[in-house]
Amino acid sequence: MAKFVVAIDGGAGSGKSTTAKAVAKRLNFFYLDTGAMYRAATLKYLQCRGSTDNIDRALVKEIIKQTRIDLRQQNSENHVFLDNKNVTLEIRTHRVNNFVSPISAIPEVREWMVEKQREVAEGKNVVCEGRDIGTVVFPDAQVKIYMQADLKMRAQRRQKELDAKNIKADLDKVIENLKFRDKYDSSREHSPLKKAADAIVVDTTNITIEQEVDLVEKIVREKL
Ligand code: C5P
Repeated sequence: MAKFVVAIDGGAGSGKSTTAKAVAKRLNFFYLDTGAMYRAATLKYLQCRGSTDNIDRALVKEIIKQTRIDLRQQNSENHVFLDNKNVTLEIRTHRVNNFVSPISAIPEVREWMVEKQREVAEGKNVVCEGRDIGTVVFPDAQVKIYMQADLKMRAQRRQKELDAKNIKADLDKVIENLKFRDKYDSSREHSPLKKAADAIVVDTTNITIEQEVDLVEKIVREKL
């Protein structure tokens, strides 16, 4: 079992990663980015199959059994390793963005991921972010946060983040992808994106990053 879990869920680009990373750093908790794990699995599938429209579900299920995904924190940076190769940047490309939701909707992929995520959190204090953390992965989390923000604001922030990683993205394309993923993620049958009944809603539309981090940190400290 994990020791203390801060579960942060929300739509794409709602500020989860930035907040989760910063809060984990301030509290010296392990930062568990479950989206990065789904992205790594998607990258592996694309490397095996290429970007064809029809997803070969049988192949996805086969691949997942032979995949190793590690989240490593080195020099206060978070790195994602796929079969021991650092793929931290590669998992943020448009190609991965376009395929990650359909691949994440496959039940066998989710079951595999949830098991790994619980394994990683074992015995640790964690800030875990994703779509189903407070509802499925850690339903007994001590703190549950649901983050949301206006679509245009989310897209502008995401574009800036990508820009910092030297990935050029058109704003309309970013908006389209966020919309597509949110719709897909919240309407899938298996563990859809939704607010846990006992989650606290944090709307980040009109607040700064500093304010959202302070707010979540305060909520966590009150529970600690
Ligand atoms: O968090 P991020 O935007 O990087 O997640 C990428 C995708 O991974 C999401 O759009 C969703 O399809 C999937 N995901 C998920 N469950 C999680 C985390 C991410 O289905 N817990």
